[in-house]
Formats: sequence, C-alpha cells, structure tokens
Amino acid sequence: MTTTPKSMDAIMALCKRRGFVYQASEIYGGINGFWDYGPLGAQLKKNLRDAWWQDMIMNPAWGRKGPNGERVRCVPLETCIIQHPKVWAASGHVGGFNDPMVDCRETKMRYRADHLRLVHATNERKSGRFFAFIENDPDTLESALKKLGKYVRRDMGQGDTEILEFSALDMEEELPRVVGPHAKEAGTLTPPRQFNLMFHSYTGATAGEDDKVYLRPETAQGIFVQFKNVVDTTRVKIPFGIGNTGRSFRNEVTPRNFTFRSREFEQAELEFFCHPDESQDWYRFWRDFRMEWWKSIGLAGENLILREHDKDELSHYSVGTSDVEYRFPFTAPGFGELEGIAHRGCFDLTQHQQHSNAKLDYFDTTRGETLPNGGKKGERYIPHCIEPAAGLDRGALALLCEAYTRDDSRPSPEFLKLNPRVAPIKAAVFPLVDKDGMPEIAERLTDELFARFGRGGFIESDAKQSIGKRYARMDEAGCPFCFTIDGETLKDQSVTCRDRDSGTQQRIALDQVKVFLGEKLGM
Ligand code: ATP
Repeated sequence: MTTTPKSMDAIMALCKRRGFVYQASEIYGGINGFWDYGPLGAQLKKNLRDAWWQDMIMNPAWGRKGPNGERVRCVPLETCIIQHPKVWAASGHVGGFNDPMVDCRETKMRYRADHLRLVHATNERKSGRFFAFIENDPDTLESALKKLGKYVRRDMGQGDTEILEFSALDMEEELPRVVGPHAKEAGTLTPPRQFNLMFHSYTGATAGEDDKVYLRPETAQGIFVQFKNVVDTTRVKIPFGIGNTGRSFRNEVTPRNFTFRSREFEQAELEFFCHPDESQDWYRFWRDFRMEWWKSIGLAGENLILREHDKDELSHYSVGTSDVEYRFPFTAPGFGELEGIAHRGCFDLTQHQQHSNAKLDYFDTTRGETLPNGGKKGERYIPHCIEPAAGLDRGALALLCEAYTRDDSRPSPEFLKLNPRVAPIKAAVFPLVDKDGMPEIAERLTDELFARFGRGGFIESDAKQSIGKRYARMDEAGCPFCFTIDGETLKDQSVTCRDRDSGTQQRIALDQVKVFLGEKLGM
C-alpha cells in the first residue's frame, strides 16, 4: 500500500465533509475555541465515552485484580458544572489556575508566553542584540530565524549573527527589542500577564460580586466534594474509585489545533481512593492500564507513548505523574497529552476539609491492631488519590488522526480505519439496484443488524449512486463492513461482503451476516 504522510488539513476537511466535526456557530463566522460534533462525531464520542464508562466504572480494568489482590471497584457520579465558588478557592483554581499571556500590539495576536521560544541574534560588531519570539512549533523556527536575520541586517548593517535559543518567560526587560511571532517590528509585545483560565458568570437576578460563580475547569473537584456522601450512602470501601464525565471549560489563551485545545471540552476522570501505603502501587496500576486501554481502542503503535514527568515538572503535592501522549500531525515529531495520570496524595481532600470544615477522613475497619476477638481496631486517615484524567475530545481527535489513511492506489483514496468498538457506523447494507426485490432484502437485513448491533452505532442503508461511490462514502465514515444485495443474492441467498481496510470482497450467506459481523466487531 502506498501511503502519504497525514495532513491535518485533509483530516479536518474529511471531518467536515462526513459530519464528524463542525465549527460551532459556523453560520455566524464561528467562535474561536468551540466545536460541535456532527452525527458521526457525536456517535464516535459517545462510543468513546461508553468504552471509558464500561472499562473504568462498570468493569474496571477489564475485571483485573488490583495490587491488593482483589477485583477493582468503582462507582459513577454526575456533578454540576457550577459549584459553590469556595470549591475553586479550595482546589487552588481561583488563586492559581493561570497562564501567562502576551499580546502583540501590531498584529492583535495573543500568545501563551510559555508556549513561545525565543531566538536570539547578536551582532558583535555593533554590540547590539535583537530577539524574535516564535511559537513552540518546529515549522516556524526556520521562518523566525530568517526574519531575525533580515531584521538584524536591516537595522544593524551586515554583521556576524549568532543565533541562540532561550526560554521565553523571563525576558521582560528585553521586550523593546523582541520581534513577535507574526510581527514586522520589534517592541510590539506586551509584558506577560497572568490570565485566569476560569470562565465566570453570576447566579440570580442581582448579579453582584457575591453572586459570582465559575464554570468548572475540571470534573475532578465534583468528586472530592461528594466523597463523603458516596462513602456514607453506598457500600464502597477503600480502595475504590469514583468516575465523573462531562463538560469542562477553560478560557484558553490560544485555542488551536482543531479540537485539541478548546474552550469547552469533555473530560472523563476517575479519582481512585486508597490507603497511603498502597498508593504507589495503585498509581503504577492505573498508569499502565490507561496506556493499555488507549491501545485497545485503536491507538496501538509508535504514535502513542507514556511519559513519566520529571521531578521538576510535578505539582508540589504530586508524588508521580505520567501522561499518555499521542503524536498528532500538528505536534509531530513531538507529542500532545491525551490523559494525565497523577498521584495526588491527600491534597484535594485535605484542602476541602480545611475550607469546608467537613470531615473528609475515612475510618478503615480493616486496619489497625488486631483485637482479642480477632477483629481490627480500625484506622482513621485521609485517603490518597490516584487520578487518571482523560480528555474525550482529544481522545476522539487522536482516534480520527490515527484512523485517517490515504492510499492513492484505491479508487477512493481516503478512509478511516476506526476500531470497530468506536466506529459510529457498524455496518452498511446496500441493494445493488433499487429494484428486483433487492431493496426489500436489504431492508430486512438492515433491521436484523440494527436490532443486534444498533446500540453501538448506525446500520446504514443506502440505495443511491453507484456502488463504488457508496463504498467510498462508507470508507470515509470509517464503516468497517458493507454488505451488498445483488443478482446472486436472489439466486443463492448470498451477499457480497466488503472489507473497509483491504477493500476486498467475499461472498457470505445472507443468514450468516449477523454471526460474521458479531465476530468481526467483537460484539
Ligand atoms: P494542557 O497542558 O494540554 O493544557 P492539562 O495538563 O492542563 O493540559 P489536565 O488538567 O490534566 O490537562 O486535564 C486532563 C485532560 O483534559 C487532558 O489530558 C486533556 O485530554 C483534556 N483537556 C485539558 N484541557 C483541554 C482543552 N483546552 N481542550 C481539550 N481538552 C483538554
């Protein structure tokens, strides 16, 4: 097969063309950082969410035993987007959820200061120095170097230009001599300003400062503040996890890269509570399982890595954090985060206990000294927490990027090799022509397949256009199998089965289609 490198423009065009992703408010010109999912995208994301829910909550870690030798137990929770504002003070988001932002007065562009690299040129003869900021993207390095070279020559005359690289953050005093990434002149960037990423609103009609509320920037805090209720109202015992999925909002300084960095996005987070002595083992358990899980739904291969954070990258409370990262076409050769797995210690429960005065410790009846009657004295402690925090939009985007394949030797060169578990269309049934009894057979088969597989996606039925065009549409939609009712079907009750990935066709018996598909889809 001859494949060409994946182009993000081509992937985005296919996403639009086939109804996976649309720009939000597109007819009004769109709104930066917001994306809607079309029919196929909505089902793809639902399948991803369902797979997470099934494998993290209903049957956590595929029924495996945890490091304590017992089956892993988790329960779901659904919490509000708007919480008491004190939640965000306790979690540190009001005071500390900031990104440094710089604006360019010339181009009106805005940048994350920590996403910019600084290229530095010295002209020794004139002992002058100029700098160019570039965005953290290998493509722009070349052009920044060129621009800087020109700039130095134009303003300082020919000279030896030495080009070095700096980190961008602490260059405030040099700003008058810095050329912004898209600017022509030096000195147009503002000093970095801290910018809080939380969206806010007001509750009630008076809308005074006392009524200020925030849209959650993560789903995790909803879990911590309901920890006690879950323990008191269910039979869960430590160790156990609580899962929460839903929309989160961050007023990102520079939303970009399609849905990768959006201002509204969906998270799937688990907080796994355990005894401090067992927390390292659970951290490793979840880190390794999450990597396996992403592989199982179609991201196996060299584009997926698990990156353990260096000590200096860790938050002050974290004993360990790893990221599952995917090599997106726009990050290549680098990687972008899909999910963070963090050992959060007892930081969050302790913070909420202090700010709310509610007791959030746990009395563990399986620990402590052994009593004369053979029972345990019990131990009271604040549980430690392991947090696998995944992004469903970044997950869906990684699945689309990984699945996107271009093979110019095929009649329809672009197709999506989506894993059957997440594919939004599970199968398609086509009458070769719209007559001679073929549509009726197709309709019966469609109904039969829908009854069996319709829970996970569409069973498409289509009688229009040439059969080649219909296959091509299904290839682009990532539908794994098409079944065609043709003249032969009328004679011997067999159908053509076409495989998306190989493009090959085979004949199978009409009454075996359901069994065949069940095996292939693993459903
Ligand atoms: P980044 O460093 O890329 O901003 P983060 O480390 O702040 O991400 P977390 O707070 O760990 O992200 O959030 C958990 C997950 O939520 C991320 O791994 C990602 O998949 C998703 N996520 C976070 N911010 C965004 C966003 N702006 N758009 C889409 N998904 C996001």
